[in-house]
Amino acid sequence: MPSIFTKIVNGAIPCYKIAEDDNFFAFLDINPLKKGHTLVIPKKEVDYIFDIEKDILAGMMVFSQKIALAIEKVVPCNRIGVVVLGLEVPHAHIHLIPIDSEADVRFSNPRVRLTEDEFKDLAARISKEIE
Ligand code: AMP
Repeated sequence: MPSIFTKIVNGAIPCYKIAEDDNFFAFLDINPLKKGHTLVIPKKEVDYIFDIEKDILAGMMVFSQKIALAIEKVVPCNRIGVVVLGLEVPHAHIHLIPIDSEADVRFSNPRVRLTEDEFKDLAARISKEIE
């Protein structure tokens, strides 16, 4: 059965899309730790990030860089934190999280609540900043 993230890539489940290319897809985390919290995934479903084929794994970080630089332009923060857990969804993903301190990346923190319009507006603004 395809992962929930594969369903997002295929358009079977909606998301707040930021960008995609042939191999990767970026969208807003639905339960963000901070405004602008984004997930980057490979389109080809692989559970564990270190099982990803070398070239794709390297490309995933370069794609993430492009997305992170765009998030920074829209969301004021000290930098973009990069976290990989993968304990919940068995489809490799990189969390890109705007942070000001280490405490901002605690996954036990309360999540930020955004309306659908706020999610849409945020995704559109980040998307526009991608170079
Ligand atoms: P983890 O697998 O532990 O790295 O966490 C999975 C992340 O995916 C969590 O931060 C969830 O909020 C996020 N997530 C789960 N389902 C969706 C979805 N349908 N759209 C966007 N983000 C999601």
